[in-house]
Amino acid sequence: MSELSGIAILGVFVADTTYRTARLPAWGETLLGAGFVLGPGGKGSNQAVAAGRLGAEVRFLSRLGADAFGEMAQAVWREAGVTPCVETVADEATGAACILVDDARGENAIIISPGAAAGITPALIEARRADIARSRVVMTQLEQPLDAARRFLEIGRAAGAVTILNPAPAAQLDAALIGLCDYVTPNETEAEMLTGVPVSGVEGAREAAEVLLRRGAKAVIVTLGAAGALYHDADASLVVPAFEPGAVVETTGAGDAFNGAFATALAEGAEPVDAVRFGCAAAALSVSRPGAAASMPRRAEVERLLA
Ligand code: ADP
Repeated sequence: MSELSGIAILGVFVADTTYRTARLPAWGETLLGAGFVLGPGGKGSNQAVAAGRLGAEVRFLSRLGADAFGEMAQAVWREAGVTPCVETVADEATGAACILVDDARGENAIIISPGAAAGITPALIEARRADIARSRVVMTQLEQPLDAARRFLEIGRAAGAVTILNPAPAAQLDAALIGLCDYVTPNETEAEMLTGVPVSGVEGAREAAEVLLRRGAKAVIVTLGAAGALYHDADASLVVPAFEPGAVVETTGAGDAFNGAFATALAEGAEPVDAVRFGCAAAALSVSRPGAAASMPRRAEVERLLA
């Protein structure tokens, strides 16, 4: 029998620097802001934190600078029980995101600088082959270079792992990459970008999922925000409803909570639709509180919601 265990996640950490402002500055202008928050972010890191808090054995592959934001990354992973499989480089910066928020209009404008994580190469992934190949589940997103994601999924598949691609941020991908995936987990925007099918609601999501199956994915989960998630494979297609979060405080990181929890359940041997339910429960808890990594729930809270 397979000795594979735990989850390997490839991805990016960025320090989210969030500024509240009444408007965007023009070039050459200095504006006084209305507030500032600093916190850990990056889709891959958030997913690793989600899985770690839920009790999964998580190895996180990434690249950091030797700086204060890199220390922030290590601290958040330590707190979540995530094992870093990280290259730290002295002369590059850790990733950072500049998030400008206009509370009044409910809009934001974001600049992401992946920093050292932009230098994640297939060779770096190769150097971590043993960490990937011992994992029962491998999962990545699209914030680091695509050729690294491809090599990561190839190693996972060859070793017999369950492979998950969360295709975020939205991008167009070749069928060879989709064909490496047991599960592709876009939100509606990403499903539309991947397939060209207009996706708003279940019918469009189902059509887009079907396109991804034809390109070689074994199953597709389209997350539908407050409407839950569509599970779609060759034999089954059903919507898992969202859980009632109480008050919605902040939806940032909902997708990351979903993916981290989904991977955790699969690594424990759950059936896919049960893993989707587990993901939806964790994501509902995450939207009921502020922050991205900070909002990831603990195991007992998710189990209470599922009971
Ligand atoms: P993303 O954050 O990537 O845009 P979604 O908005 O689709 O992804 O949300 C991911 C998951 O989070 C959904 O499948 C759902 O389970 C959960 N979720 C999102 N918004 C809510 C909400 N308002 N109430 C309950 N659950 C939610």
